[in-house]
Amino acid sequence: MAEERKCSSTSCGKDSCEGCDKAKVDFSVAPHAMSHVKKVVGIVSGKGGVGKSLVASLLAVAMSKKGYQCGILDADITGPSIPKAFGVKDKVMASGEGMLPVYSQGGTPIMSINLILPSDTDPVVWRGPVIANTVKQFWSDVIWGDLDYLFVDMPPGTGDVPLTVFQSLPVDGIVVVTSPQELVSMIVAKAVKMAELMKIPVLGLVENMSYFRCPDNGKDYQIFGESHINEIAEAHGLPVLARIPIDPEIAAACDGGRIEEFEGSCMDMAAKKLEEDV
Ligand code: ADP
Repeated sequence: MAEERKCSSTSCGKDSCEGCDKAKVDFSVAPHAMSHVKKVVGIVSGKGGVGKSLVASLLAVAMSKKGYQCGILDADITGPSIPKAFGVKDKVMASGEGMLPVYSQGGTPIMSINLILPSDTDPVVWRGPVIANTVKQFWSDVIWGDLDYLFVDMPPGTGDVPLTVFQSLPVDGIVVVTSPQELVSMIVAKAVKMAELMKIPVLGLVENMSYFRCPDNGKDYQIFGESHINEIAEAHGLPVLARIPIDPEIAAACDGGRIEEFEGSCMDMAAKKLEEDV
Protein backbone atom coordinates (compact mmCIF):
# COMPACT_ATOMS: atom_id res chain seq x y z
CA MET A 1 0.00 0.00 0.00
CA ALA A 2 1.34 3.45 -0.95
CA GLU A 3 2.39 5.52 1.99
CA GLU A 4 0.03 8.46 2.53
CA ARG A 5 1.53 11.90 2.72
CA LYS A 6 0.32 13.88 5.69
CA CYS A 7 -2.37 16.48 4.99
CA SER A 8 -2.54 20.09 6.18
CA SER A 9 -6.35 20.28 6.01
CA THR A 10 -7.91 20.62 9.47
CA SER A 11 -10.75 18.23 8.65
CA CYS A 12 -8.78 15.46 6.91
CA GLY A 13 -6.75 14.15 9.82
CA LYS A 14 -3.63 13.33 7.79
CA ASP A 15 -0.85 15.88 7.69
CA SER A 16 -0.90 16.09 3.91
CA CYS A 17 -2.80 14.28 1.13
CA GLU A 18 -3.22 14.92 -2.54
CA GLY A 19 -7.01 15.06 -2.41
CA CYS A 20 -7.14 17.78 0.21
CA ASP A 21 -4.27 19.72 -1.28
CA LYS A 22 -6.16 19.87 -4.59
CA ALA A 23 -9.37 20.86 -2.85
CA LYS A 24 -7.69 23.48 -0.67
CA VAL A 25 -9.93 26.52 -0.67
CA ASP A 26 -8.89 30.08 -0.01
CA PHE A 27 -11.38 31.43 2.54
CA SER A 28 -9.74 34.85 2.81
CA VAL A 29 -12.07 37.82 2.53
CA ALA A 30 -11.04 41.16 1.05
CA PRO A 31 -11.28 44.17 3.33
CA HIS A 32 -13.44 47.13 2.36
CA ALA A 33 -11.82 49.12 -0.45
CA MET A 34 -11.57 52.13 1.88
CA SER A 35 -9.83 50.18 4.66
CA HIS A 36 -6.05 50.12 4.88
CA VAL A 37 -5.20 47.95 7.87
CA LYS A 38 -1.52 47.24 8.37
CA LYS A 39 -1.69 44.59 11.13
CA VAL A 40 -4.44 42.40 12.59
CA VAL A 41 -4.00 40.97 16.09
CA GLY A 42 -6.46 38.47 17.62
CA ILE A 43 -7.07 38.28 21.36
CA VAL A 44 -8.18 34.79 22.41
CA SER A 45 -9.08 32.96 25.60
CA GLY A 46 -10.23 29.50 26.59
CA LYS A 47 -13.38 30.62 28.36
CA GLY A 48 -15.38 33.78 29.01
CA GLY A 49 -14.85 36.20 31.86
CA VAL A 50 -11.06 35.93 32.08
CA GLY A 51 -10.53 39.48 30.81
CA LYS A 52 -10.03 38.99 27.07
CA SER A 53 -12.00 42.14 26.21
CA LEU A 54 -10.11 44.04 28.88
CA VAL A 55 -6.79 42.98 27.34
CA ALA A 56 -7.98 43.86 23.80
CA SER A 57 -9.04 47.28 25.09
CA LEU A 58 -5.86 47.92 27.09
CA LEU A 59 -3.67 46.86 24.15
CA ALA A 60 -5.50 49.25 21.82
CA VAL A 61 -5.18 52.04 24.39
CA ALA A 62 -1.47 51.32 24.98
CA MET A 63 -0.69 51.27 21.25
CA SER A 64 -2.75 54.41 20.64
CA LYS A 65 -0.72 56.17 23.35
CA LYS A 66 2.40 55.23 21.40
CA GLY A 67 0.97 57.09 18.42
CA TYR A 68 -0.45 54.19 16.40
CA GLN A 69 -3.95 54.40 14.93
CA CYS A 70 -5.80 51.41 16.38
CA GLY A 71 -9.27 49.95 15.91
CA ILE A 72 -11.19 47.17 17.65
CA LEU A 73 -13.35 44.60 15.90
CA ASP A 74 -15.57 43.00 18.54
CA ALA A 75 -15.98 39.47 17.22
CA ASP A 76 -17.53 38.31 20.50
CA ILE A 77 -20.99 38.55 19.00
CA THR A 78 -22.90 36.85 21.81
CA GLY A 79 -20.95 38.57 24.62
CA PRO A 80 -19.86 41.96 23.30
CA SER A 81 -18.20 44.19 25.89
CA ILE A 82 -15.92 46.56 23.94
CA PRO A 83 -18.46 49.41 23.49
CA LYS A 84 -19.11 49.39 27.25
CA ALA A 85 -15.40 49.56 28.12
CA PHE A 86 -14.95 52.59 25.82
CA GLY A 87 -18.22 54.23 26.83
CA VAL A 88 -19.44 54.17 23.23
CA LYS A 89 -23.19 54.32 22.77
CA ASP A 90 -23.83 55.78 19.30
CA LYS A 91 -25.16 53.44 16.68
CA VAL A 92 -23.25 52.43 13.56
CA MET A 93 -24.11 54.52 10.50
CA ALA A 94 -24.19 53.03 7.04
CA SER A 95 -23.87 54.68 3.67
CA GLY A 96 -24.12 53.23 0.21
CA GLU A 97 -20.40 52.57 0.46
CA GLY A 98 -20.36 50.60 3.69
CA MET A 99 -20.65 50.73 7.48
CA LEU A 100 -18.86 53.35 9.53
CA PRO A 101 -17.44 52.21 12.88
CA VAL A 102 -18.25 54.27 15.95
CA TYR A 103 -15.33 56.33 17.27
CA SER A 104 -14.53 56.42 20.97
CA GLN A 105 -13.78 59.70 22.69
CA GLY A 106 -10.06 59.02 22.24
CA GLY A 107 -10.53 58.36 18.51
CA THR A 108 -10.55 54.53 18.40
CA PRO A 109 -12.92 53.12 15.79
CA ILE A 110 -15.02 50.25 17.17
CA MET A 111 -17.32 47.81 15.45
CA SER A 112 -19.55 45.65 17.62
CA ILE A 113 -22.95 44.02 17.29
CA ASN A 114 -24.11 46.10 20.26
CA LEU A 115 -23.64 49.22 18.13
CA ILE A 116 -26.13 47.82 15.63
CA LEU A 117 -28.81 46.22 17.81
CA PRO A 118 -31.66 48.55 18.87
CA SER A 119 -30.88 47.84 22.53
CA ASP A 120 -27.67 46.52 24.08
CA THR A 121 -29.75 44.14 26.17
CA ASP A 122 -31.12 42.45 23.03
CA PRO A 123 -29.67 38.92 22.96
CA VAL A 124 -28.15 37.52 19.80
CA VAL A 125 -29.95 34.23 19.26
CA TRP A 126 -28.43 33.28 15.96
CA ARG A 127 -27.02 30.12 14.43
CA GLY A 128 -23.23 29.76 14.20
CA PRO A 129 -22.93 30.45 10.43
CA VAL A 130 -24.93 33.69 10.76
CA ILE A 131 -22.67 34.84 13.59
CA ALA A 132 -19.57 33.90 11.61
CA ASN A 133 -20.84 35.83 8.55
CA THR A 134 -21.50 38.87 10.70
CA VAL A 135 -17.88 38.85 11.82
CA LYS A 136 -16.74 38.55 8.20
CA GLN A 137 -18.86 41.59 7.33
CA PHE A 138 -17.26 43.52 10.18
CA TRP A 139 -14.10 43.11 8.12
CA SER A 140 -15.39 43.34 4.54
CA ASP A 141 -18.17 45.94 4.84
CA VAL A 142 -16.75 48.29 7.47
CA ILE A 143 -14.82 51.36 6.40
CA TRP A 144 -11.93 51.13 8.86
CA GLY A 145 -9.87 53.81 7.13
CA ASP A 146 -6.12 53.82 7.79
CA LEU A 147 -5.17 51.65 10.77
CA ASP A 148 -1.80 50.55 12.08
CA TYR A 149 -3.38 47.83 14.24
CA LEU A 150 -6.80 46.24 14.27
CA PHE A 151 -7.41 44.25 17.45
CA VAL A 152 -9.97 41.47 17.15
CA ASP A 153 -11.70 40.52 20.40
CA MET A 154 -12.51 36.88 19.68
CA PRO A 155 -15.23 34.82 21.32
CA PRO A 156 -13.78 32.34 23.84
CA GLY A 157 -12.74 28.86 22.72
CA THR A 158 -11.91 27.36 19.34
CA GLY A 159 -15.33 27.27 17.68
CA ASP A 160 -16.91 28.54 14.50
CA VAL A 161 -16.09 32.24 14.86
CA PRO A 162 -12.39 31.94 15.76
CA LEU A 163 -12.04 29.54 12.83
CA THR A 164 -13.77 32.04 10.52
CA VAL A 165 -11.59 34.90 11.73
CA PHE A 166 -8.39 32.87 11.28
CA GLN A 167 -9.41 31.77 7.79
CA SER A 168 -10.96 35.00 6.53
CA LEU A 169 -8.88 37.80 8.04
CA PRO A 170 -5.14 38.28 7.56
CA VAL A 171 -4.35 37.72 11.25
CA ASP A 172 -0.70 38.56 11.96
CA GLY A 173 -0.63 37.08 15.45
CA ILE A 174 -2.65 36.17 18.50
CA VAL A 175 -2.37 36.99 22.18
CA VAL A 176 -3.67 34.30 24.57
CA VAL A 177 -5.35 35.56 27.74
CA THR A 178 -5.57 33.28 30.76
CA SER A 179 -6.32 33.59 34.45
CA PRO A 180 -4.81 31.51 37.25
CA GLN A 181 -8.07 29.76 38.11
CA GLU A 182 -8.27 28.14 34.70
CA LEU A 183 -6.73 24.90 33.49
CA VAL A 184 -4.08 27.14 31.99
CA SER A 185 -1.73 24.55 30.54
CA MET A 186 -4.55 22.84 28.64
CA ILE A 187 -6.01 26.11 27.38
CA VAL A 188 -2.65 27.41 26.21
CA ALA A 189 -1.87 24.09 24.50
CA LYS A 190 -5.20 24.18 22.64
CA ALA A 191 -4.69 27.80 21.54
CA VAL A 192 -1.13 27.10 20.41
CA LYS A 193 -2.19 24.02 18.44
CA MET A 194 -5.04 25.90 16.75
CA ALA A 195 -2.68 28.73 15.84
CA GLU A 196 -0.23 26.18 14.43
CA LEU A 197 -2.97 24.61 12.30
CA MET A 198 -3.90 28.05 11.02
CA LYS A 199 -0.23 29.01 10.59
CA ILE A 200 -0.64 32.10 12.74
CA PRO A 201 2.07 33.10 15.22
CA VAL A 202 1.27 33.22 18.93
CA LEU A 203 2.75 36.50 20.15
CA GLY A 204 2.60 35.60 23.82
CA LEU A 205 0.52 35.04 26.93
CA VAL A 206 -1.22 37.49 29.22
CA GLU A 207 -2.19 36.37 32.69
CA ASN A 208 -5.08 38.41 34.03
CA MET A 209 -6.24 38.52 37.65
CA SER A 210 -2.76 37.27 38.50
CA TYR A 211 -2.58 38.66 42.02
CA PHE A 212 -3.98 41.35 44.27
CA ARG A 213 -1.70 44.03 45.68
CA CYS A 214 -2.98 44.99 49.12
CA PRO A 215 -3.16 48.78 49.40
CA ASP A 216 -2.62 48.55 53.18
CA ASN A 217 0.64 46.60 53.27
CA GLY A 218 1.80 46.57 49.62
CA LYS A 219 2.01 42.76 49.63
CA ASP A 220 0.87 40.66 46.67
CA TYR A 221 -1.69 37.92 47.29
CA GLN A 222 -2.36 35.18 44.75
CA ILE A 223 -6.12 35.09 45.23
CA PHE A 224 -6.78 32.38 42.63
CA GLY A 225 -3.81 30.25 43.58
CA GLU A 226 -0.22 30.03 42.52
CA SER A 227 0.57 31.18 39.00
CA HIS A 228 2.16 28.68 36.60
CA ILE A 229 2.22 31.04 33.63
CA ASN A 230 6.01 31.31 33.46
CA GLU A 231 6.52 27.52 33.31
CA ILE A 232 3.76 27.13 30.72
CA ALA A 233 5.11 29.97 28.61
CA GLU A 234 8.59 28.43 28.76
CA ALA A 235 7.26 25.01 27.78
CA HIS A 236 5.81 26.52 24.59
CA GLY A 237 8.71 28.89 23.99
CA LEU A 238 6.44 31.91 24.36
CA PRO A 239 6.89 35.19 26.23
CA VAL A 240 4.63 36.31 29.08
CA LEU A 241 3.53 39.71 27.81
CA ALA A 242 1.78 40.89 30.96
CA ARG A 243 0.59 39.85 34.41
CA ILE A 244 -2.37 42.03 35.28
CA PRO A 245 -3.43 42.28 38.94
CA ILE A 246 -6.99 42.17 40.20
CA ASP A 247 -7.58 45.88 40.49
CA PRO A 248 -10.86 47.58 41.43
CA GLU A 249 -9.70 50.57 39.36
CA ILE A 250 -9.49 48.36 36.27
CA ALA A 251 -12.99 47.02 36.93
CA ALA A 252 -14.34 50.54 37.47
CA ALA A 253 -12.64 51.89 34.32
CA CYS A 254 -13.80 48.91 32.25
CA ASP A 255 -17.36 48.82 33.50
CA GLY A 256 -17.71 52.62 33.61
CA GLY A 257 -16.67 53.19 29.97
CA ARG A 258 -13.41 54.91 30.96
CA ILE A 259 -10.81 52.38 29.82
CA GLU A 260 -9.03 55.08 27.80
CA GLU A 261 -8.40 57.02 31.01
CA PHE A 262 -6.80 54.05 32.82
CA GLU A 263 -3.22 55.03 33.63
CA GLY A 264 -1.70 51.63 34.51
CA SER A 265 1.50 50.43 32.87
CA CYS A 266 0.57 46.72 32.80
CA MET A 267 0.53 46.61 28.98
CA ASP A 268 3.90 48.26 28.40
CA MET A 269 5.76 45.03 27.67
CA ALA A 270 2.98 43.69 25.47
CA ALA A 271 2.89 46.94 23.50
CA LYS A 272 6.66 46.81 23.01
CA LYS A 273 6.42 43.24 21.74
CA LEU A 274 3.70 44.23 19.27
CA GLU A 275 5.80 47.12 18.03
CA GLU A 276 8.83 44.87 17.53
CA ASP A 277 7.29 41.63 16.26
CA VAL A 278 4.08 42.47 14.44
P1 ADP B 1 -13.96 38.35 28.77
O1 ADP B 1 -13.80 39.25 27.57
O2 ADP B 1 -12.84 37.35 28.89
O3 ADP B 1 -15.31 37.70 28.85
P2 ADP B 1 -13.93 40.83 30.27
O4 ADP B 1 -12.71 41.51 29.78
O5 ADP B 1 -15.24 41.32 29.71
O6 ADP B 1 -13.82 39.25 30.09
O7 ADP B 1 -13.92 40.94 31.86
C1 ADP B 1 -14.99 40.43 32.64
C2 ADP B 1 -15.21 41.32 33.85
O8 ADP B 1 -14.12 41.20 34.74
C3 ADP B 1 -15.36 42.79 33.50
O9 ADP B 1 -16.43 43.31 34.23
C4 ADP B 1 -14.05 43.43 33.95
O10 ADP B 1 -14.21 44.73 34.43
C5 ADP B 1 -13.61 42.49 35.08
N1 ADP B 1 -12.14 42.37 35.11
C6 ADP B 1 -11.37 41.81 34.19
N2 ADP B 1 -10.09 41.85 34.54
C7 ADP B 1 -10.03 42.48 35.74
C8 ADP B 1 -8.96 42.85 36.64
N3 ADP B 1 -7.70 42.54 36.35
N4 ADP B 1 -9.28 43.50 37.78
C9 ADP B 1 -10.56 43.78 38.05
N5 ADP B 1 -11.60 43.46 37.26
C10 ADP B 1 -11.35 42.82 36.12
